[in-house]
Amino acid sequence: MTTQQTPAAPVSAVDAAGVTIAGLNKSYGANHVLRGIDLEIAPGEVVCLIGPSGSGKSTLLRCVNLLETPESGTVQVGEFTVTDEDVDLDALRQHVGMVFQQFNLFPHLTVMGNCTVAQTKVLKRSAAEAREVAARQLARVGLGELAERYPDQLSGGQQQRVAIARALAMDPQLMLFDEPTSALDPETVGEVLSIMRHLAEEGMTMLVVTHEMGFAREVADRVVFMDGGVVMESGPASAVIADPQEPRTQDFLRRVL
Ligand code: ADP
Ligand code: MG
Repeated sequence: MTTQQTPAAPVSAVDAAGVTIAGLNKSYGANHVLRGIDLEIAPGEVVCLIGPSGSGKSTLLRCVNLLETPESGTVQVGEFTVTDEDVDLDALRQHVGMVFQQFNLFPHLTVMGNCTVAQTKVLKRSAAEAREVAARQLARVGLGELAERYPDQLSGGQQQRVAIARALAMDPQLMLFDEPTSALDPETVGEVLSIMRHLAEEGMTMLVVTHEMGFAREVADRVVFMDGGVVMESGPASAVIADPQEPRTQDFLRRVL
C-alpha cells in the first residue's frame, strides 16, 4: 500500500500492522484456557474467530491487548512487541483498538467526550486536535450529528458505532472486535456490520470474534475455528464454513448455521 506523506491524510488512510501470535498459553487457576495458540495475521487481513462458548476466544483477544497477561508465548503487532516485559501500555493502546460486546462507553461523557478522552490523556493531543479527529471518525461511522448526545440517548447500534469511532480516533494498526453485534437489537446489527465491512475494505487489520456467519463468509479473508483453547481449523471461509474438515467444526457449524 502506498501512503501519501501529507499532513492531512485522507480519512481512509489506514496504517495496518500484521500480527504474530506464537505459543500463547493462558490459565485461570487450574483451567488451562489457551493451549499454545499460534496465529499469523497479515497487514490488512480480516480474520474471523469462531468457536463454542468457553473455547477461549475472548481470552485470546484480551491477551492481544494485555487485558489479560499470558503465562507464556509472544504477541507482536507490527513493530510493537505486546508481550515485552517493559511494554509501554500507552503505546499498546494506540496500536491496538478493541470493541466489546457491551460497548463500554463512559456514561457520564458525551459522544464527543468518549471519543476525545483517550486522545488527550494517552496521546497528549490538544483538545482542539482531539475534537477534530473525533469529528472525522464520527462522520466516518455516520454519527457526526450526534456528538453532543450522551450514550443513553443512543440506540445500541449507535453506541457501538461510537465505540468503533472512539477506537479509530487512536489511529490503531489493529482492531479487535469481541462479538460486537451480540448485544444489539436485530434491526441495528446491519449498521454495525456495514461499518466493519468498510473498515475492512480500507485495509484495517481485524480480528473479529463473531457468530455472524454471513459476515464471516463475505468479509473475512480467513476463518479460524477454536475449540478447547486450540486452533482446530483455519482457512478461507469457503473452506472452513462451507466445507469444514474437522468433526468439531462440523458439529459447531451445524448448531449455529
Ligand atoms: P469464549 O470467549 O470463547 O466464550 P472465554 O475466553 O471467555 O471463552 O473463556 C474461556 C474459559 O476461561 C472459560 O472456561 C471461562 O470460564 C474461563 N474464564 C474466562 N475469563 C475468566 C476469568 N476472568 N477468570 C476465570 N476464568 C475465566
Ligand atoms: Mg467470549
